[in-house]
Amino acid sequence: PSPQPVPDDYYIPTGEANSTLAVDRRANATFVILARNSDVSGAVRSVRDIEDRFNRGHGYPYVFLNEEPFSEEFKSRVSVLSGSLMEFGLIPPDHWNQPDWIDEDKARAGREKMVADKIIYGGSVSYRNMCRFNSGFFFRHPLVQKYRWYWRIEPEVHFHCDIGFDPFLFMEDNNKVYSFTITMYEFEKTISTLWEHVRKFMKMHPEYVAEDNAMGFMSHDGGNKYNLCHFWSNFEIADMDFWRGPAYTAFFEYLDSTGGFYYERWGDAPVHSIAAAIFAKKDQIHFFDEIGYEHNPYIHCPQSKDTWKRGRCSCDQAKSFDYDGYSCMRHWDKFMKG
Ligand code: GDP
Ligand code: MN
Repeated sequence: PSPQPVPDDYYIPTGEANSTLAVDRRANATFVILARNSDVSGAVRSVRDIEDRFNRGHGYPYVFLNEEPFSEEFKSRVSVLSGSLMEFGLIPPDHWNQPDWIDEDKARAGREKMVADKIIYGGSVSYRNMCRFNSGFFFRHPLVQKYRWYWRIEPEVHFHCDIGFDPFLFMEDNNKVYSFTITMYEFEKTISTLWEHVRKFMKMHPEYVAEDNAMGFMSHDGGNKYNLCHFWSNFEIADMDFWRGPAYTAFFEYLDSTGGFYYERWGDAPVHSIAAAIFAKKDQIHFFDEIGYEHNPYIHCPQSKDTWKRGRCSCDQAKSFDYDGYSCMRHWDKFMKG
């Protein structure tokens, strides 16, 4: 105990301090955090940030997911950060591990080639498991199933501005399905055959291709060639009904059946992004300028000075990734204006 503890009656009752709950409406939404036990300190930092910048006034719940049971240390260190419901789920092995029907010799050859080519995570099977899980399974987990909307958060990310509005409600009210803060080019060698398969799928299932879609953001020749632009999926706020619907279900199953998550190294970012660009209308994809966000090594800091001030942002606008040479934001702007 402290040598001279501050008396109890100096404290604001925890219920009031932790849940401003001035809000009269909430979406059916949750945070989803995939993490390893070893990610605990990073998870703590991320939750601390999102609580301080947004969630203390809303009380949205959290679902943590892991293919190994969460340690008591993990659970106690994150639970202490919020009065919100926090649930800790185990991922079933068949939603995580490399399926038996994958030809392991072919998969190994693919990994070795990527190691030789110095591709990040090129030799990692667990990274591939993670990408496949995030592409096709997280929204089917029993703890996640009861929610419609999710906000994906990773360990060790930062939220740089007060988020004075509810992004879930904004999206729900405005018929959005997918949102992002950072968009960039993918490494071509991780997805050599992905676009071919996307084109095949669109031929097989023209009924799923939306009118006024965002294909033009990803291809400048009517879908022939992919420009490698995608939304950086370590930040996502999106509608899981979209992932659970017939178009994405068929799309994921088809992609998965090709083995590309293992023979190549398809990321959930291009898979989600391409799906959003094809199966949603372009106006259903939203860029949140207001949400100052950092995932090493990139930051999105609000473009507008007023937004930056209003959010009491801690990021440097001059360091925002938006118009970096590697960013796809200028393509997005042009496409949305066009
Ligand atoms: P990067 O952002 O592409 O560099 O990949 P990360 O290493 O950040 O992984 C993406 C997300 O998946 C993070 O939330 C990680 O905590 C999580 N993750 C990555 N690999 C594993 C794994 O093997 N097990 C679990 N449970 N989570 C993982
Ligand atoms: Mn990450």
